[in-house]
Amino acid sequence: MKFGLRTKLTLLYAVLFAAVLGLMGWFFSRTVAGRMDTGVTEELDQRAAGLRGYINFVDGKPTLVYDRDDPEETHFIRLATRFYQMYDAHDGHLIEQSREMELLDVDLSPEEVAQRVAEPGIDEFDTESDRLRFHNSVIRAPDRHPYLLRVGASLGPMQNTERELKRILLLMIPAAVFVAALGGWFMARLALRPVQELRAAAHQISISNLDRRLPLSGTGDELDRLAVTFNNVFERLQSAVEQMREFSVSISHELRTPLTALQGEAEITLMRASSVDDYRRVLTSQLEELGKLSRLVHQLLTLARAESGQLKLEPHELDLAALVRSLVEQMEPIASYSGVQLAVVKDDPEVWISADPQWLERVVLNLLDNAIKFTRSGGSVEVSLARDNGEARLEVSDTGSGISPDALPHIFERFYREDASRSKQVAGVGLGLSLVRSIVQAHHGRVQVKSEPNVGSTFIVLLPLAARPSSVAEVKPA
Ligand code: ADP
Repeated sequence: MKFGLRTKLTLLYAVLFAAVLGLMGWFFSRTVAGRMDTGVTEELDQRAAGLRGYINFVDGKPTLVYDRDDPEETHFIRLATRFYQMYDAHDGHLIEQSREMELLDVDLSPEEVAQRVAEPGIDEFDTESDRLRFHNSVIRAPDRHPYLLRVGASLGPMQNTERELKRILLLMIPAAVFVAALGGWFMARLALRPVQELRAAAHQISISNLDRRLPLSGTGDELDRLAVTFNNVFERLQSAVEQMREFSVSISHELRTPLTALQGEAEITLMRASSVDDYRRVLTSQLEELGKLSRLVHQLLTLARAESGQLKLEPHELDLAALVRSLVEQMEPIASYSGVQLAVVKDDPEVWISADPQWLERVVLNLLDNAIKFTRSGGSVEVSLARDNGEARLEVSDTGSGISPDALPHIFERFYREDASRSKQVAGVGLGLSLVRSIVQAHHGRVQVKSEPNVGSTFIVLLPLAARPSSVAEVKPA
């Protein structure tokens, strides 16, 4: 069975309250009962002691002697002798008893008398209506003849009081628990009301109005802190959703222009072209455009995967120095075609990292490509690689156009290209650096950039170092 928080709180409260009250009631009634019990025994002690003072031995027989005109004495004697017996301790013979004892007809046998003489003290027995407690003591006549004095009292009044007490407690405790549970129920409602309000407010928030926030009571209590936490979550969601919106708008823009151009060109060609050569020329140029578009879509897909954490890395130990050298070699012809000098200026012979070579190649190629792209003929691009503080540090420096301080914080954003007119001259859609950053982050690394307009830029990639695989170490000496 499923209970709401309010019911659970109330039940818990009621059970706890009942347990505390029950325990208190039990303790209280036990204490009172114990106290009454010793009270009766003490009273019996006093009665026996008092009676002994009034017992005289007349002709060797124990006899009660008191002033019958003294109301106090008469009252005491009447009270103390209500349950009263005197036995001859030698033969166990009953000498005298009160009227009430006579009616009850509970004489002791000689054995029982002998036992009580040997061990005087308290004993009890049940009559039909009552339970009686007796005090046994031995008194001696002047001639040393022993007698057993039995003085009793009814435990009925005490038992009645105990029963009454239990009855009151059994009635009072459930009533008190009920009242407490009722109070608890209302208190829980009061305490949970802000939760209900939060629930209602949260219900109103959807993807179309992520700018809404949960109300704060301003008390700074747990619920307020919870609301603040949720508001922070909404804030992050809102910015993520906005980013996604911007992303899709940018994609649409990027795709629309070349597609419109392709469409227009195709239409004009259909209308005007007259020779196979015309068609071939247009198709060739369109093929180039289509190639760019397809690369763009591919890049977008990769980036989307990288950003949603789906980048499938197959990392293993690799020598970054060797990788960088081979990529620089590969880019050399493109650099010299643009009149840019590309060289590795400084590197460690081996820099081992754990990475996916295919993805890492993209990082290095993108950085080299940018450096060459944004450097004029006559300039240079320098690559250096070092081990630094447990990290591999790859630097790609160029003497190119540099990046303005305004643009610098944005260059890693998707589709960001500094200064449209300048960028138009160089191919690119502004996804390269976003991809570089995503890949490096997936490898637990960082990318940094330093740049000065018209002087040049330096991109720095820092990646955690890995241990050199032992199999390589063995082969190495050659
Ligand atoms: P793309 O190269 O396709 O334009 P990137 O994401 O690689 O896109 O780069 C974003 C922008 O950062 C570039 O358009 C350019 O303005 C700037 N940038 C990147 N690398 C360099 C560099 N080496 N020198 C100058 N500017 C650069």
